[in-house]
Amino acid sequence: LVRIRKLTKRFDTLSVLNGLDLNVLRGEVVALIGPSGSGKSTFLRCINRLEIYQRGRIEVDGVLIGYRECETSRGLELRELSEAEINRQRADIGMVFQNFNLFPHLTVMENIVEAPIHVRRRSRAEAEETARSLLARVGLAGRASAYPRELSGGQQQRVAIARALAMQPKLMLFDEPTSALDPELVGEVLSVMTDLAAGGMTMIVVTHEWGFAREVADRVVFLEGGNIIEQGPPEQLFTQPETARMRAFLDKVL
Ligand code: ATP
Ligand code: MG
Repeated sequence: LVRIRKLTKRFDTLSVLNGLDLNVLRGEVVALIGPSGSGKSTFLRCINRLEIYQRGRIEVDGVLIGYRECETSRGLELRELSEAEINRQRADIGMVFQNFNLFPHLTVMENIVEAPIHVRRRSRAEAEETARSLLARVGLAGRASAYPRELSGGQQQRVAIARALAMQPKLMLFDEPTSALDPELVGEVLSVMTDLAAGGMTMIVVTHEWGFAREVADRVVFLEGGNIIEQGPPEQLFTQPETARMRAFLDKVL
C-alpha cells in the first residue's frame, strides 16, 4: 500500500533522512522505533507532505504524493501539486499526534464531522451517524457534546483517532500517540489501536510502547541517524538483533 523510495530530507545542512526505502503492505502494522532525533516524526510527516523533502518518492495506494508526473519534451517531469490537491491526498491518510490536536473550541461531534462534511462533502446527518458509531467503537458513546477540555487525555486521544477514522483513510500514521498520557490512560488508547489493527487497518506507528510493538506490530523498523538500521518481525528484532546499534538501543530502553 505504501511505497517509499530514496526519501532524503535535510533541514538546511542537517541531514535527517538519508535515502530511506520502505514498503508497507495493505493491512500491515509497522512499528517505527529509534532514538530521539533519529527522524521518526519527520519521516511520518513526509508521508502526508507536512514536510517537503529534497529527494525521493512516496506512493500511497499507487498515488504519487505531492507531485504530478508530466510528459514533456525533456522526458518525464514532476510538477508540484497545489495545496488543495495535496489536501485531497491527505484525506486518505489519517494522522494522530502525541498531543491530540483537537480543535479546542469545537465539541467532540463537531471535531469529528468537520472534515467529512467539508472535504468529503458528506451530509451532516450522514457524517454524524458515522461519528456516533466511531465514538461507540472507541468507547466514548455519549460524549459527543463534550468539549476537549472536559475530557481526559486518553479520551481526547480516542476522539482524535475517531476523527481520523471518520475520513475512511487507507493508512493511519501515529506519532507517539500515548507518550503525553498519564500511565493509567495509555492502555485505553493502545486497546483502540489494537482493535484497529485487528480490523485490518494499515498502520505506521512511532512508539516507545514495546509491549504494543511486540504484540501488535507485524514488523518493527529501527531508525537511527536517518537510516533504517534493521527491520523484521518483533520477536526476532527484540530478542536477536543483528546489528550492534540495535543491541545498544535495546540495552538502553528495555
Ligand atoms: P523524538 O523521538 O524526539 O520525537 P524523532 O525521531 O521524531 O525524535 P525528528 O523530530 O524527526 O526526530 O527530528 C529529526 C531531526 O531533525 C532532529 O535533529 C531535529 O532537531 C531536526 N528537526 C526536526 N524538525 C525540524 C525543523 N522544523 N527545523 C529544523 N530541524 C528540525
Ligand atoms: Mg518525534
